Amino acid sequence: MSALLELRNVSKVYRSGFFSPRTTVALDDFSLTIDQSRPSITAVVGESGSGKSTLGSLLMGFIAPTHGDVLYMGKNMKAISAAERWQFRQDVQAIFQDPFAAYNPFYTVDHVLTVPIRKFGLAANREEAREKMGDALRKVGLRPEEILGRYPHQLSGGQRQRIIVARAMLLKPKLIIADEPVSMVDASLRATILESIYTLHKELGISVLYITHDLTTAYHVSSEIIVLYKGSVMEGGDVASVVKAPQHPYTRLLIDSIPWPDVDLQWGREPVIRDDGTSPTTTKGCKFASRCPHVMAKCRETAPPLFMVGDTQASSCYLSDASPAIQRSELQRVLEPA
Ligand code: ADP
Ligand code: MG
Repeated sequence: MSALLELRNVSKVYRSGFFSPRTTVALDDFSLTIDQSRPSITAVVGESGSGKSTLGSLLMGFIAPTHGDVLYMGKNMKAISAAERWQFRQDVQAIFQDPFAAYNPFYTVDHVLTVPIRKFGLAANREEAREKMGDALRKVGLRPEEILGRYPHQLSGGQRQRIIVARAMLLKPKLIIADEPVSMVDASLRATILESIYTLHKELGISVLYITHDLTTAYHVSSEIIVLYKGSVMEGGDVASVVKAPQHPYTRLLIDSIPWPDVDLQWGREPVIRDDGTSPTTTKGCKFASRCPHVMAKCRETAPPLFMVGDTQASSCYLSDASPAIQRSELQRVLEPA
């Protein structure tokens, strides 16, 4: 195994509010390895506020961890050289919910594609650049003659998101971090965009971290899944194992909120689960205890470790305590079984 990107016991704590400061543990002792030699699509699911975007931002190097380390090619991100950072910028690409939020509305979409071509020296001349742009756009189902020369506001949300996928295609990164990439896109286009992300994975061997609140699309596109609740992993493993036989009460709740007979038809339905409104703060015991139908006295005392309920599944719940316990940092064992 050779790790491209690794989170080692990472926590992110936000402090907000001036007069009555509040601390939020957005991500709590989280470990994950993105392996270069084995491209995967890993879904990270959970309700709003569970720490998914925080995880994405940590992996992108946008924010620094409060505790623990983020490593790129085995080196701490805090200490990588300028050359390594430049390589990182090519290797790890982001696809966000609102793809053009980061772009200047006065530039045509060409700009989004020509900048990386120039920056990373992907073409020898203008003609080659034009050709590469055309190829990438066609690959995601867009017609270059309809797209090039236009401004972002002249395109639909679906077209804009596909341009970002085309951009990722040009750069041929090793990892794409896609944070809710289709939640602002019309339902009719979601499948097409997810398919083009899947094609990137299949054809170019790109790993994808697919961050979503939507279990149904996660089930469709990913191979592994991590279920987050208030910054902690509740369950994780092979997507079929977890979705077909969820062991954690929280995962069961998420899955029960999906109309299963329609699982192959429903795209992007948001789970409707009562939110108790409490923010993730440092508490002892299991974070899900206050909402759990199976809560026991010990759940309120000590947070459960991960229990390996099979070779490809682990659940952080005492209901599974007949299975062997593993460290939180060993989640990888079920995501990538030997
Ligand atoms: P998700 O993407 O799953 O909705 P986030 O990672 O955005 O979750 O947020 C996790 C928690 O951290 C939430 O409680 C959120 O309010 C809090 N949070 C996120 N960003 C900040 C910030 N910059 N300052 C303070 N709290 C934040
Ligand atoms: Mg988010």
